[in-house]
Amino acid sequence: MEKTRIVVAGPRGRMGSEAVKLVERTEHYELVAVVDHKHGGKKLNELDGISSLPVPVYDNMTVCLTEVKADVLIDLTTPEIGMEHTRTALQLGVRPVVGTTGFTEENLRELEDLCKEKDLGCIIAPNFAVGAVLMMKFSQLAARYFPDVEIIELHHDQKLDAPSGTAVKTAQMISQVRTEKNQGHPNEKETLQGARGANFEGMHIHSVRLPGLIAHQQVMFGSNGQTLTIRHDSYNRESFMSGVKLAVDTVKNVNTLIYGLENIID
Ligand code: NAP
Repeated sequence: MEKTRIVVAGPRGRMGSEAVKLVERTEHYELVAVVDHKHGGKKLNELDGISSLPVPVYDNMTVCLTEVKADVLIDLTTPEIGMEHTRTALQLGVRPVVGTTGFTEENLRELEDLCKEKDLGCIIAPNFAVGAVLMMKFSQLAARYFPDVEIIELHHDQKLDAPSGTAVKTAQMISQVRTEKNQGHPNEKETLQGARGANFEGMHIHSVRLPGLIAHQQVMFGSNGQTLTIRHDSYNRESFMSGVKLAVDTVKNVNTLIYGLENIID
């Protein structure tokens, strides 16, 4: 089997370092470079404890993808830089697999157009944990019978975006089957701003940020005399890597933008 040549952006990060390990342990993958804004010009094995591979570290995506022959970029950085990396990769003929969260609707539309123009695939998933995708699918099913719903997402306190990409994606999936409805009393009033969380078509999303957490979400449905709670917990970042691998293996065979892991698992 021909090896897939991979660049990882954000290799020192909590997710990026797991992605480096995934690439290293997968026989048909080859890590050809990493992009790290603070360590351009070094080799990866010179960065503390990430890898023993002497692959080049670039601080600029354009230079990296011009000098190194790559098939796939795995981006696990921050929303603004992740968008810039993804755009650059597509412009230079490299297929992105993006775990970075916080992309806007406008970003997604731009990338969709760029995929069409370049005839390239790109997979963006706000949550690469297979269990989280099932939690979203089960929530969409439940919403057909329980239109009263609130979403509570819980993450570590270093997370930059709120609400989480998974919570927004869950709300989008639920809204496909749920008639728009304002959750709560029609006359309810917040005496402390933000008490009812973010409002997505009348569904409320609550973001909890605490050290000790990784990535968790519960979707609560209520009806007369009963509630249903669907919950998923990621206890470590390895939980996301089987989804990243599935995306890397899939992105080579598609030529559109795919948003959400649920669109590539059966
Ligand atoms: P993290 O530990 O803060 O890692 C982000 C990394 O990106 C850091 O090493 C950071 O370097 C680096 N970075 C910042 N600007 C950069 C640039 N210009 N070029 C290259 N690298 C740059 O965060 P994380 O927990 O790994 O999360 C990374 C992203 O993945 C976030 O958007 C998060 O929400 C998302 N995420 C997605 C999933 C999923 O399943 N899709 C799961 C968990 C997290 P510095 O430390 O020097 O700033």
